[in-house]
Amino acid sequence: MAMQFVDLKYQYQIYKEEIHKEIDKVLSSAAFIRGPAVAELEQSLAEFVGVKHAIGCASGTDALLIGLMAEGVKPGDEIIVPDFTFVATAEVIVLLGGTPVFADILPKSFCIDPESIQKCVTGKTVGVIPVSLYGQCADFFSIQEIANKHGLWILEDGAQSFGATYRGKKSCGITQLGATSFFPAKPLGCYGDGGAIFTNDDELAEKLRMILNHGQEKRYLHTTIGLNARLDTLQAAIVQVKLRHFEREIENRQHVAGMYTDALQGIVETPTVEKGNTSVWAQYTIMTDRRDDLAAGLKERGIPTAIHYPRPLHSQPALAYLGGADSDNPVSVRASKRVLSLPMHPFLTEKEVAFIAGSVREIVGG
Ligand SMILES: *Cc1c(COP(=O)(O)O)cnc(C)c1O
Repeated sequence: MAMQFVDLKYQYQIYKEEIHKEIDKVLSSAAFIRGPAVAELEQSLAEFVGVKHAIGCASGTDALLIGLMAEGVKPGDEIIVPDFTFVATAEVIVLLGGTPVFADILPKSFCIDPESIQKCVTGKTVGVIPVSLYGQCADFFSIQEIANKHGLWILEDGAQSFGATYRGKKSCGITQLGATSFFPAKPLGCYGDGGAIFTNDDELAEKLRMILNHGQEKRYLHTTIGLNARLDTLQAAIVQVKLRHFEREIENRQHVAGMYTDALQGIVETPTVEKGNTSVWAQYTIMTDRRDDLAAGLKERGIPTAIHYPRPLHSQPALAYLGGADSDNPVSVRASKRVLSLPMHPFLTEKEVAFIAGSVREIVGG
């Protein structure tokens, strides 16, 4: 069988019985919307992260959007985001009439640079969305200091880092709000779209729950404008099964990353994990000046790769109206030209990693 970038088929085969049992329960109950599996998952997720409230929602993008709505983002508000991330981080700001302001990233962790955040703060800044990219957390200690100084809220985009730790705390439980995604290819994925948002703040939790269900306070009493952004019961049941195996999968991912780094060090720039962090390796992303040759060579050998991300957000056509320039964020621009993500999932074998690493060595020399 062809090598997979993320092997969801194999994962399904090994958890199949458990998954079918939980799906059958939902189907037999016909409680497809807000069925018991949703609250059960929320309880498990809150325990896992170590926060008071975990709230399931329809996607990672909705988790971010609901978070911004609960923070009361309004037209004219500026929110600082990294220039180098998936578009959803900025998209949700624009949807609410806010203005994303693009900060640069750090060259090693690929996460937002606190010094760059400081430079982006204006009188209109209301918050920051640091992204815990590729599986490890941003530098929240420094970010929190800046936020405290300027009275900003912080919403962690933990779509790629669920399960990672920062100074002993779990991703999504570090700042007042954390958002994650259960998109199938994320470290903890469902079989469709799904997401969750996390907080210790009772008042925020109540707002978040109302917003994701049409701003409904009680049946047909709508006290705020909301969305239909509920997590499907079926998806909740599937995530619950995968959560049982998640810690072991994270260990496997870390083992795979270690094998890659041992084999690739000195040949390409290998990714590093910052002191105080553990990574869940959503991506294993290397950097090389010969990125495009390498991707083509690996493809010839049947090895899939991906570029996360080929353009910094300021240069996306939909966001060009903001007037960002390459010279504003040189680290993001350089990363976008040099990054390449290799296959990464918990079931990669030593043999496969050796084949991939050997192929990289053949193509780019060393
Ligand atoms: C995947 C992702 C999202 C969006 O999650 P969806 O569930 O696909 O909506 C947001 N931010 C980042 C950094 C992501 O990787």
